[in-house]
Amino acid sequence: MSELRQDPITSEWVIVSPGRAARPKDPHGNEPASCPFCPGNEALTGEAIDQMLRPDGRWQVRAVANKFPLLASASEEPAAAPLATAGGLLLAGNGAHEVIVETPDHRGHLGTMPVADARQALAMYVRRYRALASHSRQYAQVVLFRNHGERAGTSLAHPHAQIAAVPVVSPVVRRRVASQVAYFDTHRGCGTCDALQRELQQRDRVVLQSAEFVSVAPFAAAAPYQLHVIPRRHAAGFADVDDGALDDLAQHLTRLLAALRAAAADPDYNLVVLSAPLDLVHRRATHWIIDIRPRLSTPAGFEFGAGIAVNSQLPEAAAQLMRAALRAGQAH
Ligand SMILES: [Zn+2]
Ligand SMILES: [Zn+2]
Repeated sequence: MSELRQDPITSEWVIVSPGRAARPKDPHGNEPASCPFCPGNEALTGEAIDQMLRPDGRWQVRAVANKFPLLASASEEPAAAPLATAGGLLLAGNGAHEVIVETPDHRGHLGTMPVADARQALAMYVRRYRALASHSRQYAQVVLFRNHGERAGTSLAHPHAQIAAVPVVSPVVRRRVASQVAYFDTHRGCGTCDALQRELQQRDRVVLQSAEFVSVAPFAAAAPYQLHVIPRRHAAGFADVDDGALDDLAQHLTRLLAALRAAAADPDYNLVVLSAPLDLVHRRATHWIIDIRPRLSTPAGFEFGAGIAVNSQLPEAAAQLMRAALRAGQAH
C-alpha cells in the first residue's frame, strides 16, 4: 500500500510505494512468451478494464489495472484529509494506475505502426482519461504518459502507455497553471496560443504542422530533441479532444515519432500529456500539450542543485534535423 508524504519545506509530494520494487523487469523484452502484455498471456494482467476489438474478435487495445500500482484502491469516498505527523503531512495513497496495452504486437512501435492502429491506441488514451477524470471528488489530476526504453524508466518492452489518477496536485503543476493564469490576466489571452502564433510566424523551431496540431522544438528545450505537440485549437484538458482531432493526432504523432526515431537513433523518451488539474476553473488560460522528452543525457548534480536544466543541443538545430528526417521519411 502506497502513501503520499509532503515535504514540510517545499510542499512537494512524494509517493512512497515499497510494492513497486517487486515489479517484473524486462525492458529489452526479448521473450514475448513471458510478456504479460502479449496475446495469450491475458491471465497475467487480469480482466480488461476496457478494450477495443478487431473485426476478428481479438483485442487490438487493452486497458488493465497496473499490477504494481503507484497508487491504488480508490474508494468512492472523497479524498480523506491528510494527517499531520511530526515529519510532515501524510495522505493515504488512494488513486488509480492503469496500463494501456497499445497493440498486440510485442515489437510494435508508435512511430511505425499503421496510423489506424495508433488511432485506436490514442482513442483508448482519451476514453480512460475521461473515465478517471470523471471522479473529480477523489482525484485532483490525471497523468497520462508513456515511457519508451530503459533510460526512460520502462520496465516492459511491449508498447504501452500508463495513466494515473492522483489525489493531490504538486506545486510544480500549480506553478505552471498560476503562470498561465497570470499571463491571461495581463494579456487577455492564452500564453500557449500566443506563443504558437509567434512560432508559426518565425518558423525556426516548427517541426511539423497538420490540420489540428503543430509540433515545435520549444525555445527553452530542457533536453536534446525535446518536442511539444500543441493543439491549434485552444483546449484546457486532454478530455476535450474530439474525434476529428484524434484522427489528425494519430497521423501527426506517428510521423513525428518516426522522424524522432530516424533523427536520433530511436532514443529512449518520456511522452507526457500536460493537462489541466481536475479542479481547474481557468479553462481559457490553460492549454494542454504533449511533451516528448528524449533521454539522451542524464541530469546530474548541477541540475539537482541549481534546478536548471543543461541542454547540449540548440532547439533550432533539433527542429532542422527533425524536419530533414520528416522530408526523408516522406521520400520513402
Ligand atoms: Zn509482449
Ligand atoms: Zn490556448
